[in-house]
Amino acid sequence: MGVEELFFQISLECCADGKVSAEEFELLRRVSALIKLDKDKANEIANRAVSTFKSGQLPGARTAGPDLIYQQLLLQLCADGVLDAEEDAVLQSLKQLLGSDTKNFHKLAARDDQRKIRLKPLLCSNCKGLLPLKKSEWIECPYCAKKNNIPASYLDAIVTRASLNRHKSKLHEIRDAVGRMPTFFETVVSYFPDSLIFFLFTLFILFFQHYLNILLFYPVSLYYNKHLLQSFYEFSNPMLLAFIKAAALYVLLSIPFAFIYRLKRKISVLAPLQISLAAGAPIIPGGPATCNNCGGALLVERDSHIVTCAYCETENLVGLPEKWLQTARSRLSGVQKSSTEAIKNFKHETGRLYETLFSLAILFVIYGFILGSLYENERSDHFLPQIKPDESQRAVIYTDSASRPPLNFTEWNLIPLTYASAEWKSADLFLFVNSGERFVVSWKPDEQHFKELQSKTYYLRDLPVPDRMTVAFYQTFSYDPSGKNVMKRLQSLEVFAEKEIEFTAEISGYYHLRCYFPEHLPQFFLRIARVKPD
Ligand SMILES: [Zn+2]
Ligand SMILES: [Zn+2]
Repeated sequence: MGVEELFFQISLECCADGKVSAEEFELLRRVSALIKLDKDKANEIANRAVSTFKSGQLPGARTAGPDLIYQQLLLQLCADGVLDAEEDAVLQSLKQLLGSDTKNFHKLAARDDQRKIRLKPLLCSNCKGLLPLKKSEWIECPYCAKKNNIPASYLDAIVTRASLNRHKSKLHEIRDAVGRMPTFFETVVSYFPDSLIFFLFTLFILFFQHYLNILLFYPVSLYYNKHLLQSFYEFSNPMLLAFIKAAALYVLLSIPFAFIYRLKRKISVLAPLQISLAAGAPIIPGGPATCNNCGGALLVERDSHIVTCAYCETENLVGLPEKWLQTARSRLSGVQKSSTEAIKNFKHETGRLYETLFSLAILFVIYGFILGSLYENERSDHFLPQIKPDESQRAVIYTDSASRPPLNFTEWNLIPLTYASAEWKSADLFLFVNSGERFVVSWKPDEQHFKELQSKTYYLRDLPVPDRMTVAFYQTFSYDPSGKNVMKRLQSLEVFAEKEIEFTAEISGYYHLRCYFPEHLPQFFLRIARVKPD
């Protein structure tokens, strides 16, 4: 309802009894002044009301009942905060004239300009101290204990306020967060610089790295061995492994980290928010806290962090430690923001968790790629060739050192002592075997060479040609529970010269034979042949 329409309706009510008394005329004059209506305009509207009555059209022109008129007038007057004790008299006589009852107020949809119903803070008539406002006929002065009457229109305004359908306050959504002080832990975390958090984060990754390898890869290696019948090291995809690890690290570390990060950001915006919302200190110690907007006295209930000012409806945060407030205020002086801005900032900062998690996910994808290429490098650096689809790795027998040429299957190959390492008097020969595949091994001494030795060396002269050799059979790469690739000894036997022994591979992968040179025999022949499946 517009101002002019409202005044027209009030005028109609005044002349409803057939005449406009001097009293009523005076009331209309004061109402028009209160709602800031032009004098000529007011006269014109009042005259229009009188002529409407005279023409007998009054019942049709009345669009609002007395209660709605009074409610609307209160809204009008409270919007700019001018309602004070002096205006109370006007409102009360009008209320009497209209015969309206606040109990009959209806729910109204509030327009934007009617969001706030502001009242002028009341002062004690005795000591001029600030009085809190509550829904009762009188209030005791918190300073001098004098009972002060609360103007009836203030109470009516409170009823009007309650009759408005309004949006919930913005503060409501975050009241739990702003209502309490940060804990010691939260405060400590908030002082950590971002770089330190990232540093700790990296340390964590390094620390977890090894354990994660065991935790993740050992079960995978078992899966390769038991179900795929393949050796884990040769057959697993390095990129896949790297990404399994990166994903696991991401889950393990980034989520708690993101929460810490979020907490830190939250704390950093919480203080400005709390300060901007904090109620003012009492003007005289011991008095009520004051509204941060209108300076009115607040009525603080127990166990409540947020108190809405009864005068201007601003929400105030109470119960914050005064000492903390003082230091925080001085620390943040100059960057003080409005509470709306602070709330917005607070929500923005706390809402950045997903942003943080997303950017961390990108970091982990990059990490996965780097790790994957490291794994790939490590594998391609090995002298045993990688597994190829064309199975070219099966073609030859590899020797311990890449500089020596590979040997052929089914041929008698000469193995001199140069194949042995300095410490171990043994030669290692590597071959790739598929699961279930068999191969045979046999050896014989290089008798020619032994005889030459006997002719040169006195103490060998009467010895027979050595005819026994220890041969050990290993799986070359086996992922063990400590997270390392180790050689796994499968079998070890003593083999007579020129006697064939057969080996069967359980899983596909590289195997090797370790042939221990018999005593006094620096050179022998070895033959390895694959057994054709039946
Ligand atoms: Zn007082
Ligand atoms: Zn206020």
